[in-house]
Amino acid sequence: MTDPALLAPEAPHAPSPSHRIRTLNDGGSDGWEIVYRARALRAAGEVVLDLTIGDHDRITPKLILDAMDASARGGHTGYADVPGIPALREAVAARATAQTGVPTGPENVLITAGGQAALFASFTACLDPGDTGLYIDPHYATYPGTIRAVAGVPFAIQSRAEAGFQPEREDLETAPPARALLINSPNNPTGVVYTRETMETIASFAVERNLWLISDEVYDTQVWSGAHLSPRALPDMQDRVLVVGSMSKSHVMTGSRLGWIIAEEAMIDHLADLLVTTTYGVPGYIQDAAVVALTEGERIEIEVAETYRRRKDLALGVLARSNRLSVVPPEGAMYVMVDIRATGLSGDAFADRLLDTHRIAVMPGESFGAASAGHIRIALTTSDDRLEEALGTLVTFAEALP
Ligand code: PMP
Repeated sequence: MTDPALLAPEAPHAPSPSHRIRTLNDGGSDGWEIVYRARALRAAGEVVLDLTIGDHDRITPKLILDAMDASARGGHTGYADVPGIPALREAVAARATAQTGVPTGPENVLITAGGQAALFASFTACLDPGDTGLYIDPHYATYPGTIRAVAGVPFAIQSRAEAGFQPEREDLETAPPARALLINSPNNPTGVVYTRETMETIASFAVERNLWLISDEVYDTQVWSGAHLSPRALPDMQDRVLVVGSMSKSHVMTGSRLGWIIAEEAMIDHLADLLVTTTYGVPGYIQDAAVVALTEGERIEIEVAETYRRRKDLALGVLARSNRLSVVPPEGAMYVMVDIRATGLSGDAFADRLLDTHRIAVMPGESFGAASAGHIRIALTTSDDRLEEALGTLVTFAEALP
């Protein structure tokens, strides 16, 4: 008689997806619901003004598109150098040297498929499964999911609205033992630029706890007041800092997926191995265009930043008409964060009602963590005229709430 254990098992059901992929959003939301809702309304033929995600209201500038076209037609359509083409690594390194004063060479630069892939790669390189990855709340919506995606455990350090969302020593002290800390200045969603004092506090905390410090600097060209300071520029920090950068915001290249990591050479070598198993590099014609953008496109960078500075001023003017809304002073980035707690609504409820009644979509603060509950984030990503009109409507809406 055949041992029953050796009999073929019952026809198996389909295998289940991994625990990691099923819990990527921690069973909750990914924070983008309002974006999906706005898109669905649009798809159904409604006119919706979308001030949710940080994408530009213009296409990539001609200088960059022409460079892409020339490169692709010139033959750079095959596999490109996986860690990045030498000319681009060189251009990013030169920029980092000029910005920070820290001598940076191409061996310190890895080109990635946007800042998001740089965040994923950084956490892969800094955390082992089960290690805690720290980040500051409010935070860009993808951070906790990115940590979970590499089998890490996310922990949000709360910064406080009353402290202008500058994380303080006592906030950092709430963190459990961890392996890495992710910071973001200029900050999305708050628009806050960390002061030198904040950066020094963070740096000494990272040294004391022996943490990797991942510094998301994708808004470094959009600074309205204060000055951008990279923690990599602080004394003795080079060995533990990974800087995440991107062309998405600075050069209107969101769809091109071009970002980078700047770190110590040994770390960059490890990260290059990771790219072989993931994206296998960024298309050569995008990289060639990025070289042109970085070496000849300073005018573009300045013009893009000036557009958001102008709209930020315009937005502050309109929002000041309200007695119930107060603005978190934006020091950088392409958003304005508004405290709506005086209306008695949550950010979620406010954003939902604004979309329902006026077809204007903004992000609820809750999408960026507990610290920004009761806030909304407005992306400055529409023409000046439309922005002025929409914010006028938003103010009237807020004043009319019971
Ligand atoms: N970090 C922050 C803070 C962001 O706001 C974004 C995009 N909105 C990213 C990283 C990722 O940008 P990308 O992948 O387009 O470079």
